[in-house]
Amino acid sequence: MPDIQTVSGNRGLAIEEKLIFEQSSPGRIGVDLPEPPPVDLDRLGGLARKSPIGLPDLSEPQMVRHYTRLSQKNYGIDTGFYPLGSCTMKHNPRLSEKVARLPGLTDLHPFQPQSTVQGALEVIDTLAFWLKGLTGMPAIAMSPAAGAHGEWCGLMAIRACHEDRGQGHRRRVLVPESAHGTNPASAAMCGFTVDPVPATADGRVDVAALKAKLGDDVACIMVTNPNTCGLFETDILEIAGATHAAGAFFYCDGANYNAIVGRVKIADLGVDCMHINLHKTFSTPHGGGGPGAGPTVLSAELAPYAPLPFVVHDGDGLRLVEHAEQQAGAKPFGRVKGYHGQFGVFIRALAYILSMGADGMRQASTDAVLNANYLLAGLKDVLTASFDGPCMHECLFDDRFLKDTGVTTLDFAKMLIDEGFHPMTMYFPLVVHGALLMEPTETESRETLDGFIAVVRALAAKAKAGAADEFKAAPRLTPRRRLDETLAARTPVLRWKAGSNGAG
Ligand SMILES: *Cc1c(COP(=O)(O)O)cnc(C)c1O
Repeated sequence: MPDIQTVSGNRGLAIEEKLIFEQSSPGRIGVDLPEPPPVDLDRLGGLARKSPIGLPDLSEPQMVRHYTRLSQKNYGIDTGFYPLGSCTMKHNPRLSEKVARLPGLTDLHPFQPQSTVQGALEVIDTLAFWLKGLTGMPAIAMSPAAGAHGEWCGLMAIRACHEDRGQGHRRRVLVPESAHGTNPASAAMCGFTVDPVPATADGRVDVAALKAKLGDDVACIMVTNPNTCGLFETDILEIAGATHAAGAFFYCDGANYNAIVGRVKIADLGVDCMHINLHKTFSTPHGGGGPGAGPTVLSAELAPYAPLPFVVHDGDGLRLVEHAEQQAGAKPFGRVKGYHGQFGVFIRALAYILSMGADGMRQASTDAVLNANYLLAGLKDVLTASFDGPCMHECLFDDRFLKDTGVTTLDFAKMLIDEGFHPMTMYFPLVVHGALLMEPTETESRETLDGFIAVVRALAAKAKAGAADEFKAAPRLTPRRRLDETLAARTPVLRWKAGSNGAG
């Protein structure tokens, strides 16, 4: 297919959008404002601006079109299928969005007196009640703002507990090789050293290797369950037992909780601490990096070290504990965030939980696993499944099926964009070569899954038939093609400067 060059640079009705500054025309304005009264320059103490403020000058329709067109360039879960493994891009019910926009909730201010925000404290407390109930864990820290932040919070509680018991020398953390990169990063940020644990040929933690690494300098293990290969860690009880016998804690990365919520009580697995990505398990938008929330459930042993603030019931209603002395027995390791947590995400998660009910969440995790297995079954004869047997909520393939085709996992992903699909997760987890990790979530219909399977099968056949050049040229139908992502990350252009044509 030849590349089409249009005179305008537009591709059909997909308009080539200039920066808003490049569209500016000096003096153009969207509203008629009265002449401002003269400014008393003395009152500005000599700090009056001497140069123009540099905002773009546009008419109202120009501005509306600019932002509307930008919004249309954003591919999201509301636009199409988004099988990004590990990220759990799940549909956000409009009901939750509606509740999150209620003025009584959006108009709150975190500095309001507590007597005026009892309803908001009840939202936090009710959500905490559900999360503790679903996991079977006795305590929870609500304030972490993301999964990685929850990991850090949990590890800080573990560190504080060890130090309190005179076990401050426990500074080694065991992390399986298949772990999400945030696990070793969080451990390092807490001042721990990271000791990797290998995986077995069937994609699970090597229990013998883990046991061999346990010792009296180990603070905790960090295990993801179901793991990032989409597999349930079948030896989890043995792992938990050995860890506890060695005096260490079991941190569970709960990012994949959406596969088991309503079916497994985390407490029954011997977990001491687990963050819950509300933005993965309980809906909530998190495209483009935010927002999220990572409440972290804690065992009774770790509970006293939970960070401030937290909500408690009192005779006169709900109360936010802001200082350690306000609560007997509290030994908080500190605070992790300004204010009380990601309140907008709390509302969405609670609306989701209450609208689904416990039985509905069980159904959702069951359907998430069913959908992932449907993809696995529909693709495993043309792609190479990394491990035998059924998967949990996501299915993992590697690039053996592309051997000798000249096509890489990256090329394959780019080709999917031209076909109208957000690619799956690529090159993660690291335990297999050229990983393709697919997570459909429970909300996709059979028709959507069939459509995706048909396209992936056709592309696999095309790759094997020697169409490497076509793959290398993909994507061809997007406004921008292959970007130099390394350059963009290393040398980001964050600010437009007049006359610089966007660069500099
Ligand atoms: C998403 C994810 C994380 C990190 O969560 P964030 O909310 O993105 O910080 C950690 N571990 C696993 C397995 C994940 O999938």
